[in-house]
Amino acid sequence: MKSIKMVDLKGQYDGIKGELDASLNSVLNTTSFINGPAVKKFQSNLQEYLNVRHVIPCANGTDALQLSLMSLNLSPEDEIITTNFTFASTAEVVLLMGLKLKLVDINEKTFNIDSSSIEKAVTPKTKAIIPVHLFGQSAEMEEIVEIAKKYKLQIIEDNAQALGATYMFKDGKKKKTGTIGDIGTTSFFPSKNLGAYGDGGAIFTNNDSLAQKMRVLANHGMDKRYYHDLVGLNSRLDSMQAAVLDVKLKYLDNYNEKRRNSAERYSNNLKGITNVITPNIPSDHQGHVFHQYTLRILDSKRDLLAEYLTKNSIPFGIYYPVPLHKQKAYYNPEVENNLFPVTNKAVKEVISLPMHTELSIDQIDFISEKIIQFLN
Ligand SMILES: *Cc1c(COP(=O)(O)O)cnc(C)c1O
Repeated sequence: MKSIKMVDLKGQYDGIKGELDASLNSVLNTTSFINGPAVKKFQSNLQEYLNVRHVIPCANGTDALQLSLMSLNLSPEDEIITTNFTFASTAEVVLLMGLKLKLVDINEKTFNIDSSSIEKAVTPKTKAIIPVHLFGQSAEMEEIVEIAKKYKLQIIEDNAQALGATYMFKDGKKKKTGTIGDIGTTSFFPSKNLGAYGDGGAIFTNNDSLAQKMRVLANHGMDKRYYHDLVGLNSRLDSMQAAVLDVKLKYLDNYNEKRRNSAERYSNNLKGITNVITPNIPSDHQGHVFHQYTLRILDSKRDLLAEYLTKNSIPFGIYYPVPLHKQKAYYNPEVENNLFPVTNKAVKEVISLPMHTELSIDQIDFISEKIIQFLN
């Protein structure tokens, strides 16, 4: 058996090397490195894949979130609601923009923002909700859309971990995550479900005027060259990354299917084992593309299991060890710790197992066996 990796980018590259090399070479031969045809081609293919009117490529997933907030005409007292259990970017951009961060607790089953807690956090100052489709599973968008309508809030979906996931509404209508709210964002960080060979990101929207504004904001606030109407950013997806992404986009559904199959095998192997809670099996309406396969390990055994996995050369991840409200940079003494019982428990119990498109059945079974051995 090959050595087990948390993410196997080399194995994935080897599988499509011919196509990728040709695509990269064509950029080299045109030397159109910034805003070249490769970027436009990828943008339009991603629009089609997502069935969304506008894709705005940008430099990374964090910029995508920041540009989204910059487009919404917000002022310093405005409050933005998001989950306490996510990668730092989601909260970081809110604070960078000088806005008020309102963190809320998560749902124990899905690790996603708890929709009933959102409504309790809404005040007259609330302007937007940022749900994060964590670990590849859609947040409860039907409920979130209802709350947003009721209180006239905007929704920015942080879809960095769930590109390709589909959400089904109660009436059977399906939409790709990231295209349900007013704005969706994603990251093409190499280990994401659609990963570039460097940094990259994108914003999605069906709103023509927001799209136009975000395009201008991402380009130094300039529509007509050297005429700056807004204070913007320099945030571009470069052509080399677009050339990689355009090839890999064709395989995204297939890659996500592989992840789902691996997740199913892990869950079958670990069924009924004491002190293990396997990830929520997605119901019909809540898509899951398993960016991470995350277990909860009960009875204070998570850290001991982590040590045992290390001894057996099995990599793992703890996403995330500290809730945002306890991070030094974001700490706010007015925020009460007891608002977050589920998050506070999750950070002590979660462990993510190797998950990528090249994972073999032997590897999954070996990892599962070791976990069972340890917990039995
Ligand atoms: C990766 C990630 C981001 C940030 O993306 P970058 O491209 O690294 O800036 C934002 N939010 C979530 C939930 C992420 O997982």
